[in-house]
Amino acid sequence: MGDQPGITRDRLHGAAEYRGRRFELIDTGGIVVDDAEYIPSQILKQARMALERAAHIVFLVDGRSEITAPDRDLARMLLRLGKPVSLAVNKADTGARESLAHDFYSLGIGDIFPVSAEHGIGVDALLEHVTAGFAETPEEERREDIKVAIIGRPNVGKSTLLNVLTGQDRVIVSPIAGTTRDSVDETIVRDGVSYTFVDTAGIRRKGKTKQMAEKLSVVMARRNIRMADVALVLLDASEGVLALDATIAGYAHEGGRGLIVCVNKWDLISEGKKTTFERDLRDHLKFLEYAPVLFLSAKTGVGVTRIFKSIREAYESATKRISTGELNRFVESLHFEERRIYYITQASVRPPTFVLFTNRTGPLHFSHVRYLTNQIRKRFGFIGTPIELKTKTKKD
Ligand code: GDP
Repeated sequence: MGDQPGITRDRLHGAAEYRGRRFELIDTGGIVVDDAEYIPSQILKQARMALERAAHIVFLVDGRSEITAPDRDLARMLLRLGKPVSLAVNKADTGARESLAHDFYSLGIGDIFPVSAEHGIGVDALLEHVTAGFAETPEEERREDIKVAIIGRPNVGKSTLLNVLTGQDRVIVSPIAGTTRDSVDETIVRDGVSYTFVDTAGIRRKGKTKQMAEKLSVVMARRNIRMADVALVLLDASEGVLALDATIAGYAHEGGRGLIVCVNKWDLISEGKKTTFERDLRDHLKFLEYAPVLFLSAKTGVGVTRIFKSIREAYESATKRISTGELNRFVESLHFEERRIYYITQASVRPPTFVLFTNRTGPLHFSHVRYLTNQIRKRFGFIGTPIELKTKTKKD
């Protein structure tokens, strides 16, 4: 679907770990030495920075293509850097290609690894080789990582927000084909907490037509919610809440993850309209009453930093466990008369799910569910996460 030219192109990096060895992975995008015509100088500049910082360089070539002059130029350039260089020959999925890998020895890089990025073949050997000299990260230093999905309709500002949150403006659009990537995550560390934005390549991927872009936004939302701890549902303040926003928000709600509504492009809204906006929004997205709403402008940066605190709160809430003792003291303090609650326990997290053991069969009326979940929220401070309540009958 996204395999056409004109795809957003960028330098991506993320935290990676292999066998307890943590390292940072930087993807430079394509490099063609001395090709000022097609490759904006910015790409080269960024690639050079990445190469300077790197402890190991992996040169990835397409095993189904002949070696080209630019490949040779690049190989020479990389070898001159005096750092370990490995050659990964991609798409080497059939045995016949192994012989082709032979030709690649002429590039002068001794460590050659046939891989299939698509099928994951050969990747272990490559990683083992690349990370062999890296230090193992001590257990206590492996920090908690909050996975965040940015979801929303096309043009609400997802990629703009991602750029601000990751603190780097590194989106470069290139007319060259073959720059699509599968899911790529980007990690940043802020105040000792690490945040991984999932599928950032997808966030920047744009559909060709409006219809395609909209479909893509829903597909991505559904997939990325599953990969995330917290979803940022982005809206465009200048357009209000549209049906597609509600659909996407609905998936986020059903996904049971932490959830924050971010009203972007707040800079376009006049003072007078601001007061009614949240009321209208709550009206349109009634099922998200637990979600904090942040008003911000990804473009000017106003209101953006608060997102991190909200993400942490939502994450802590979505993964919080309340002991059965605490829960039962809480139940005793309630004046709940619809049925007798013998006891209550928390069965799971993400979303926090509570099981009530009561003296009556049949589901609770939704107004009672609402009352109880609201009480739980208030008492234990669950912010920005859905809560589930289940009832079970206990004989004695
Ligand atoms: P995406 O499709 O959701 O990734 O949206 P983009 O990040 O590509 O943004 C779509 C358009 O909205 C671009 O022209 C952005 O410059 C613009 N935009 C993004 N955030 C803001 C904002 O906070 N205020 C204003 N006025 N424009 C914005």
